[in-house]
Amino acid sequence: KYYNMVEDMKGKIRVFCRIRPLSRTEDAQGGAIAVEKIDDFSVSVDTPRGPREFQFDKVFTAEASQEDLFQDTNRLIQSAIDGYNVCIFAYGQTGSGKTFTMVGDKDQKNPGIMPRSFNAIFDIIRESSTKFDFKVSAYMLELYNDRLQDLFVSPAGEAHAQPPSHGLVRRVEIKRNRKGVVFAQGAETKRPPVPRSSTLCSCRPAPTDTSLPPMNVESSRSHLIVCIMVESRNLTNGSVSTGKLSLVDLAGSERAAKTGAKDHQLKEANSINKSLSALGDVISALSAELPHVPYRNSKLTQVMQDSLGGNAKTLMIVNISPSECNLEETLTSLVYATRVK
Ligand code: ADP
Ligand code: MG
Repeated sequence: KYYNMVEDMKGKIRVFCRIRPLSRTEDAQGGAIAVEKIDDFSVSVDTPRGPREFQFDKVFTAEASQEDLFQDTNRLIQSAIDGYNVCIFAYGQTGSGKTFTMVGDKDQKNPGIMPRSFNAIFDIIRESSTKFDFKVSAYMLELYNDRLQDLFVSPAGEAHAQPPSHGLVRRVEIKRNRKGVVFAQGAETKRPPVPRSSTLCSCRPAPTDTSLPPMNVESSRSHLIVCIMVESRNLTNGSVSTGKLSLVDLAGSERAAKTGAKDHQLKEANSINKSLSALGDVISALSAELPHVPYRNSKLTQVMQDSLGGNAKTLMIVNISPSECNLEETLTSLVYATRVK
């Protein structure tokens, strides 16, 4: 039944909920659990006013492995090769498991959706190389304070060690071609050998604003956007189709600390809030089938425009903590996620 769901999800936005394991800190604070999975499609949250239920297309608990999650996203990867625009993004507060879900853990013992998708694309291409001729390219961007940075040009590690001089920062602009396909003008596009998992995972989001002290910007304050374009030419009839897979690890959705936030932290927080609420507005306009979808309200929604709505297949993964300590942010995330329905 589930497989049919992915099959006919064209133009629709699906939402998975992933509950991460209790962290050591949460455990040390008493380990009280506020979120429980009821069945594969719903979770219950213990709020001070009583239990509250939320519905999803699928719920994953702490027991679910990266492999389990990928099994349920795999078909979308095939769709991108078949010529669809596919977007998979992770939403949630900092520490909820977005990067774990999208990229994986640091030592890549548990690779996430990005490296798995890359490998899956290459496997599929290899298997169908007698019937199709493929052209694959990719770009990787970081969106921080409404500024796009090309991660292929300035890899994360270097930026941390030494902020690039202004001359080295490449301006990236979001443009759309005649067919409405979004592309990153000015960004380096890699052709095969396209970065495989190792390159990808060394490129965690990095600070880019050279006016800031380099170590101050944390990866959770920026959006990481990885796009893989796959053009395939049918060797029998010559027909060409172009698909695109966009994988996004969003900035943390938590509200800014009310006290002690410095100027640049407020600027960051405002920029994140603005982009995430613009994304929420786009998603709810799409699910309500409104005639006007406000894509232009933020750079984030402009970058994601061709992968939300239309013929695109979109999967949102809302990552949450199971702990009572994070109850408020968890509720906020779940409410955001249900705007899609
Ligand atoms: P975020 O990107 O949302 O800020 P992370 O992905 O960095 O959060 O996760 C925070 C911590 O929790 C990391 O140490 C990560 O390895 C761990 N973690 C998150 N989700 C899981 C999971 N499903 N299983 C095991 N560890 C997880
Ligand atoms: Mg992260």
